[in-house]
Amino acid sequence: MSSRRKAPINLDVQEFKTIGYNLVDALSELLETIYIKKVTLGETPKEIKEILGDESLPEHGISAELILSRAQEMLLEHSLFNGHPRFLGYITSSQAPIGILADLLASGVNANCGANILSPMATAIETQTVNWLAELIGLPNTYGGVLVSGGNMANFTGFLAGRTQKASKLFKSSGLKNESKEMVLYCSKTTHTWVEKAAVLFGHGSNAIRWVDTHENRKMNISILERLIKEDIENGKVPFMVVGTAGDVSTGIVDDLGSIGKICEKYKLWFHVDGAYGVPAAIVPEEKEKFKGLEMADSIALDPHKWLYSPLEAGCTLVKNSKHLSDTFSSHPEYYNFDSDEADPSVNYYEYGLQNSRGFRALKVWAAIKQVGKHGYIDMIREDINLAKMFFDQANEHQELEAISHNLSITTLRYVPLNLAEQYKATGFLNDLNQKLLNVLQKEGEVFLSNAIINGTYCLRGCIVNFRTSEEDISNIIQIIVEKGQRVYSDLKS
Ligand SMILES: *Cc1c(COP(=O)(O)O)cnc(C)c1O
Repeated sequence: MSSRRKAPINLDVQEFKTIGYNLVDALSELLETIYIKKVTLGETPKEIKEILGDESLPEHGISAELILSRAQEMLLEHSLFNGHPRFLGYITSSQAPIGILADLLASGVNANCGANILSPMATAIETQTVNWLAELIGLPNTYGGVLVSGGNMANFTGFLAGRTQKASKLFKSSGLKNESKEMVLYCSKTTHTWVEKAAVLFGHGSNAIRWVDTHENRKMNISILERLIKEDIENGKVPFMVVGTAGDVSTGIVDDLGSIGKICEKYKLWFHVDGAYGVPAAIVPEEKEKFKGLEMADSIALDPHKWLYSPLEAGCTLVKNSKHLSDTFSSHPEYYNFDSDEADPSVNYYEYGLQNSRGFRALKVWAAIKQVGKHGYIDMIREDINLAKMFFDQANEHQELEAISHNLSITTLRYVPLNLAEQYKATGFLNDLNQKLLNVLQKEGEVFLSNAIINGTYCLRGCIVNFRTSEEDISNIIQIIVEKGQRVYSDLKS
């Protein structure tokens, strides 16, 4: 005992227990009171900084107990709670309580999931999780994949895998400059901003993106897609990838994946599906039809931290053939291809993605899947979709609301005052009114919505990836929007 090194960062086991039990008590209270708290206090950055204090770099340490009780106080009293039943903003879910505990356990083991030798059990759990995620959305469990930090990284990972496959043989040694012709890719105008980031960051430039027009229903127009591909080929470009969206971030629309898949087969293009938000809905029997063609995708992005209620961060890239990841991300794919012929190959996830050292993200995803099973997810996702529909219907019935869209679990609507005065009917006024209304709603924290702009119309947008939201919450939210809408309108008039 006495020979143990004393390090200031170590914690006495008894102290660890006391602080730990305290923390679990505080979090349990949060889980109990989250229903009656505000979503957010809407404090300004200045107010928040004042609460934090402007202490300079500590010269010497203080007790861990003090630090954690202060951190609890700051975070539990001054955070925005996306686990709140009336948080419907962006696409951030209420996190599964089992995920909170799983994260603690994962950090307690501190497995480095870059290499199998450093994380034997954790790596096996990640592999099982990836297989289950593929199966969950109706794909054969022959798909490979890797967990990443979120949707952007999952899409980047698929993008890079596709590019390696479709570029020339010399691409890995000579880079883009060896490509004699410009490589171009296609996606609909509803595609998330990641695609532009990818084109810029990975050396293609944003002009390499062909933004395909959509139909009025916001699905990619496939005849325009094919026309653009043909034009590019005629003009000496090299089309390499089409991105289909399965649940667009503004309105939840799913592209016609089967038709995109056929175009990709015909022109030998990589088919990537961005299902970061929407693809878990493929497990709900009555929604399955919308995702027909998903099985044609070469790579798919899916975000457990969205509709699978995992705590941040957890994204996943699935690929039809895991060799496509190692071809891109491993420096010695041949050696490892040889390796994987052995009876008991080991998976080293650093060869499947951008990261080297990797945290144990899989545990919280794995634990939630085991806790609720496929049927638990079917029920919860179906209920989210039904609530979004109810939100739409109630807005539709209300005289002062205009329901605009409902797909999957996303509803858009806007506030329109009764007897709107003639001089206010000019375009722009209602946009302005709804924008101000959204700011008021977000600041006052009884409900948290975000926005979408649909054909120039500024809409309030609710996305339900929240297992706490109830029918009563939806009715209350309708009421809150109308009350605050009336107030903002009368302020604007005066
Ligand atoms: C959320 C989202 C992303 C980005 O995912 P992050 O987890 O925020 O990085 C990309 N595409 C779609 C369709 C999304 O909904």
